[in-house]
Amino acid sequence: MQVKTKLSTSKSKHLVKSKGCLTSNFILKSSRVVVFIFSLAAILLVTIQLMAQANVSNEQKVKPAVIAIVGGTLIDGTGKEPLANALIIIEGDKIKAVGPASKIKAPEGAQKIEAAGKWILPGFIDCHIHLTSETSDLEYYRDSNSLATLRALQLMNMYLRCGVTAVRDVGSHVEAMQALVQAQKKGYIDSIRLYPCGDLITITGGHGYGMHGSLAVDGPWEWRKAVRQMYAAGFKHIKISPQFTLEEAKAAVEEAKMLGLHITAHGGGFSDTMPPTMTKVAIKAGVECIEHLNEMDDETLDMMARHQVFNVPTLYTYYASYQRNDINRFLIEKRHWSMAMHETLFKKVYKRKIVMGIGTDANGEYRELYPRIYFEEMKYFARLGMKPMEVIVCATRNGARILGLEDELGTIEAGKAADLQILNADPLKSFDNLGSPEVVILRGRVYKF
Ligand SMILES: [Zn+2]
Repeated sequence: MQVKTKLSTSKSKHLVKSKGCLTSNFILKSSRVVVFIFSLAAILLVTIQLMAQANVSNEQKVKPAVIAIVGGTLIDGTGKEPLANALIIIEGDKIKAVGPASKIKAPEGAQKIEAAGKWILPGFIDCHIHLTSETSDLEYYRDSNSLATLRALQLMNMYLRCGVTAVRDVGSHVEAMQALVQAQKKGYIDSIRLYPCGDLITITGGHGYGMHGSLAVDGPWEWRKAVRQMYAAGFKHIKISPQFTLEEAKAAVEEAKMLGLHITAHGGGFSDTMPPTMTKVAIKAGVECIEHLNEMDDETLDMMARHQVFNVPTLYTYYASYQRNDINRFLIEKRHWSMAMHETLFKKVYKRKIVMGIGTDANGEYRELYPRIYFEEMKYFARLGMKPMEVIVCATRNGARILGLEDELGTIEAGKAADLQILNADPLKSFDNLGSPEVVILRGRVYKF
């Protein structure tokens, strides 16, 4: 339509010019002046309108949405006793104030969420997940990055519904992880917080070798380069997997620390040909965290405690593997693996006050265990002697510590991210009350279910 109008205007101008008359030239000139003045006025009007709109959006930026959660019982993730009749004020994507409703006031105009008779907890954190993990052998070989990305997003959204608001992915397709992080930044998708490692780093033939989401390299310089590659790909976390020499692990740790990345190691397992050497090597090299509880002697555990290395036990996924007779026979027969071994190690780690987080690690066919597996892991911790409040701290503050984000996430305190969940029943009475929150707030945005 616009093109047609332009054409007809230029045609009429041409006709007027061709007459070559002084009068018509004068009319033409004055009409041009009039058109020019009108155009100027129109431009001015549009500019004023745009400026007014800009002012409104600036005002909106200055005054972010304020939410007041009123009257619930607060379990803040620090391990403190629950606070009855609490008031939580959220401004934008941050928690502005927290306290007893009798002591602080909700600002005027705040959106109120009535929480009397309900429980408020921080969003939970899964420290060990493989979001793109395949569901069958066929997918393992024929999977595309696009499908893997969508599968990861499905799991992220499933978690949001359950109150898990952040995950650390410890080995998934690089491209899928990059796409999800970028899509969140650009606002294409709206899901839970994702902290990926990209490819886990192992040796040729090592644990995870050949898996989608692993990078096999050999020798210290190649290990350094692998860390640099993950850094260049935009990742802030590194995962290494046995076997590795002390030189290789040290090179990875040094490089990660120089680049400001966090680094964790898979602990032992089938690939640990001289148990419990690999875990000890990783700790000596300076990793921040050990994944799983596989064949650790007391000396290794003492080293972990001394160096304040974190641990993510992933007990339930092992339990499910024993149940399905899916643990390598060699480990059971020759290395005496059993659920009792993992459980004993859990108790030893707990006794040494090593910081533990909740991780699920349900790969392949075990993927069907999501999202329930997260809460099964919490129940497992409690069955092995942790108090319910301590387990909640593992799922919240400890998770944030393991992610290196203790100052930003994990607890309901002023200044922290507004990631929380509102439950209908007391989680301290039963963990069955977890996993179906009525409301989840993530980055200050309210999701009602
Ligand atoms: Zn894993």
